[in-house]
Amino acid sequence: MRMMTGEQYVESMRERKLQVYLFGEKVDNPVDHPVLRPSLNSVKATYDLAQDPQYESLMTATSSLTGKKINRFLHIHQNTTDLINKVKMQRLLGQQTAACFQRCVGMDAFNAVFSTTYEIDGKYGTSYHKNFVEYAKYCQEHDFTVDGAMTDPKGDRGLAPHDQEDPDMYLHVVETRPDGIVVRGAKAHQTGAVNSQEMIVMPTISMGPEDKAYAVSFAVPTDAEGILMIIGRQSCDTRKLEESELDVGNSEYGGVEALVVFNDVFVPNERIFLNGEVEFAGMLVERFAGYHRQSYGGCKVGVGDVLIGAAALAADYNGCAKASHIKDKLIEMTHLNETLYCCGIACSAEGSPTASGNYIIDLLLANVCKQNVTRFPYEIARLAEDIAGGIMVTAPSEADFRDPVVGPYVEKYLRGVQGVSTENRIRVLRLIENLCLGTAAVGYRTESLHGAGSPQAQRIMIARQGNLPRKKELAKKIAKISE
Ligand code: SF4
Ligand code: FE
Repeated sequence: MRMMTGEQYVESMRERKLQVYLFGEKVDNPVDHPVLRPSLNSVKATYDLAQDPQYESLMTATSSLTGKKINRFLHIHQNTTDLINKVKMQRLLGQQTAACFQRCVGMDAFNAVFSTTYEIDGKYGTSYHKNFVEYAKYCQEHDFTVDGAMTDPKGDRGLAPHDQEDPDMYLHVVETRPDGIVVRGAKAHQTGAVNSQEMIVMPTISMGPEDKAYAVSFAVPTDAEGILMIIGRQSCDTRKLEESELDVGNSEYGGVEALVVFNDVFVPNERIFLNGEVEFAGMLVERFAGYHRQSYGGCKVGVGDVLIGAAALAADYNGCAKASHIKDKLIEMTHLNETLYCCGIACSAEGSPTASGNYIIDLLLANVCKQNVTRFPYEIARLAEDIAGGIMVTAPSEADFRDPVVGPYVEKYLRGVQGVSTENRIRVLRLIENLCLGTAAVGYRTESLHGAGSPQAQRIMIARQGNLPRKKELAKKIAKISE
């Protein structure tokens, strides 16, 4: 099969029989649900752009497994150019959607599982790598969107998986059969699960010998028996039910997360990538997190480009674009945003081959990248709100704007400079509101903090990778210290 068009992707999602719950009700048709549809459109953009000749080199790649042309989201990175192109592709999609386009988690899981399974097989003689390669070919062949499921609910954070009072707080194997395993547990805040055809599950932390049942990685279709998804609420999400394009801010695109429950789900042997080899759980987590921390140096930068553009437009419409402090704030926002991009590109350019042959980012630089992402988008959002003015949170609704009695007052009193309609001024303010405080704030703000691991997780990696002994040696040499 060839790469799918955006429309073919949408149709293929209609064929999945997902068990989805939202606002206390089962959603029979997630594809057309007004709250969910914008998030599907974001994933659809990853298909549409891959069909566009001008983006071919970024959006597509040649499969190292089959030699066929595939969507880059399903690619096993072959060199540092692939790693750099990945980040550029993510910036492009962030610019086009101003939202989380969700498909990266599968790409990052692909590359982490590819190299880790190779090393497990090297030690144990297992066949996980072969399992994964066959699975990857299957996904490439069908041009699937694959969810990467890592984060367990974790219960008492002070206790190891096997010590939890409720054994299901980390996903685990509850039964082993001749033909496969049965798993139970949940994965929290799963980006794009509802818009994916497949799902790769991985452990969420390093594990010890007693956590054997929890050290498990595998793939399942998202509509496998026993899986159900409970959609997370987003700030201002019900505005999407009001049929007001204006009030939503970004009516076309969005992101989505879900709590995904695994109620005794069967996984056949050929779809298992880790099962009890506890010492490899940490490697898988570290690599997936590393790739996803690189990803944020692309996607958040693209969304940041839209926010900076919106702030600059708001300044134009307010008539204050020439004020020196406004110019300086836009410079500061650009500086912060491009610093994140530098980190994304740097950790990619400094990548290296793993034992399996695929390329991995420089882990120290990827963690520095994500650590900056936990801070800079907040400052960029603060500056955008500063430039926009309080009207971004006090402007009346579209219904008032269109009302024959009060509409003319809104039109008259919310006007900025002459030559720009009041409606356009409100449009850009609503976009800023959406990115800083509305549905897109999930992806641009809080996900910048907690997605791909909370700030402390990066600091642990920075401590581990920072190589202080080597730095001490450098200082001793310069200071002529001999001990
Ligand atoms: Fe991709 Fe960014 Fe969304 Fe992660 S947060 S899935 S990297 S767009
Ligand atoms: Fe994320």
